[in-house]
Amino acid sequence: MTTPKNKEAVFSAAKQGVLYAGNLIVGADPCQSTMTNTTPIDNSAIGTIDDATEEHVNQAVKAARACFNNGTWKDKSPAQRKQIMQAWSALMKKHAEELAALDCIDAGKPISECINTDMPATLDTFDWYAEAIDKVFGKVAPTDGGVVSWIVKEPIGVVAAVLPWNFPAQMFAWKVAPALIMGNSVIVKPAELTSLSAYRMIELAYEAGVPKDALQMVCGRGEVVGAAIGRHMDIDMVSFTGSTEVGRLFLQYSAQSNLKEIVLECGGKSPQIVFEDAVIDEDMVNNVLSAAFWNMSENCSCGSRLLVHSSKKQLLLDKLVAGLAAWKLGDPRQDDVVLGPMIEQAHFDKVVHYLETAKSEGASLLTGGKVCADMGSGWYIEPTIFENVTADMTLFKEEVFGPILAVTAFDSEEEAVRLANDSSYGLAASFYTQNLKRALSVARQIQAGTVSINGFSEGDITTPFGGYKQSGFGGRDNGLEALEQYCQTKTIWAIC
Ligand code: NAD
Repeated sequence: MTTPKNKEAVFSAAKQGVLYAGNLIVGADPCQSTMTNTTPIDNSAIGTIDDATEEHVNQAVKAARACFNNGTWKDKSPAQRKQIMQAWSALMKKHAEELAALDCIDAGKPISECINTDMPATLDTFDWYAEAIDKVFGKVAPTDGGVVSWIVKEPIGVVAAVLPWNFPAQMFAWKVAPALIMGNSVIVKPAELTSLSAYRMIELAYEAGVPKDALQMVCGRGEVVGAAIGRHMDIDMVSFTGSTEVGRLFLQYSAQSNLKEIVLECGGKSPQIVFEDAVIDEDMVNNVLSAAFWNMSENCSCGSRLLVHSSKKQLLLDKLVAGLAAWKLGDPRQDDVVLGPMIEQAHFDKVVHYLETAKSEGASLLTGGKVCADMGSGWYIEPTIFENVTADMTLFKEEVFGPILAVTAFDSEEEAVRLANDSSYGLAASFYTQNLKRALSVARQIQAGTVSINGFSEGDITTPFGGYKQSGFGGRDNGLEALEQYCQTKTIWAIC
């Protein structure tokens, strides 16, 4: 077994520029070309990742299909697959600090978050699906006598997981754990900005006994590797998490190729509603701030629109500004930092553009609004709150994916619900009230996949996660729903 590294060893390897993530493809030639991998912490080179081609995708699919057809993974009993995934999870637990540090350096995520939130959630996902798989039963249909009919679930075949960069290890787990445990052959395409933890986790999977052709990885650019996956005639399903814009492309790829199944988890512009009867205490303020700024707001379910009753607006905003003072922005390798840099310059520029657009469209800057030029060459932006944001402004409509909270006041429940639903997205929502009747009614009226009452949550591994409207398509991550989406249904009709 390889020896786990502590975070200092990972950070030191990054400084020397020797971190590597590459293709893990059975029988393929080594990749001829690599890309330099930089960290958003200070924009320095930390190593290289493979820059794969369409041919690499073809080779991975060939091996994955052979694995599926010969049954080396699919035909293992659920209990055997469970045992291997549990062994894998135990290995990842030993390497948890190393994996957390890889995500920290690669994505600029605070190390404390990677260690205390991302890695426990990642391990929990693998443990949960491993434990679930030998408890999934088929059904017997209520047919006439003389016929027995079973409805059984079978794995789909070759499944590709196309991943985003904002929660590298966790998004890997959300896709790979249910897809693999169902018996599919899985090909992972991590975001080109964050391939390190995926590479390491798959190496550990092999150590734990996952057959190499059952779980492979192709590293590279979206428009090359992602598009080749989308258009491939022998991939049966793509499970994608990323932007709505690229999600749309996968529907096109599918239509233009083999009608592969597509599941999309996409962007959001989630509302947080504070009614006039909300309790505004420290806990509530922390929840609102976490929804808005957790993970530098590079979070699909970010509560980026705050809708507050006019009578509570001033009180709440004063408390939010005061509470935000405790959110330390800086080098995410430091234990007390909770806000790191934006992932890369292009994204930083996009967020800066939203800051300028908000000002030019007439929103009022309440706090923040500056880039942090004094933090070296990383891509740091202050957490920012704009008030007096109206429904026709860009900041109200578009996903920023950066630390800007848009505040809009309302005067009635009907107006609050209308504003909340005034979005092309529908991933998540949260609201605050003490009125049970209102809580149940508003929860039903809000068009979103996850609605939290008196707190901010994405649920946990037991609950399905995904979006209404243009936030998602075709399925859900997490819960038993995710297992369902990685299998197909067969009816067996036996005439006795
Ligand atoms: P992205 O859409 O740019 O990239 C996602 C993946 O698609 C990457 O692996 C990328 O290489 C690939 N890709 C890019 N262009 C492609 C193309 N032309 N053809 C095929 N593949 C291509 O998204 P991102 O910037 O990595 O992630 C941020 C987005 O992800 C945000 O919109 C966020 O809301 C969303 N997200 C959603 C969820 C969810 O569960 N709903 C979770 C995390 C992130």
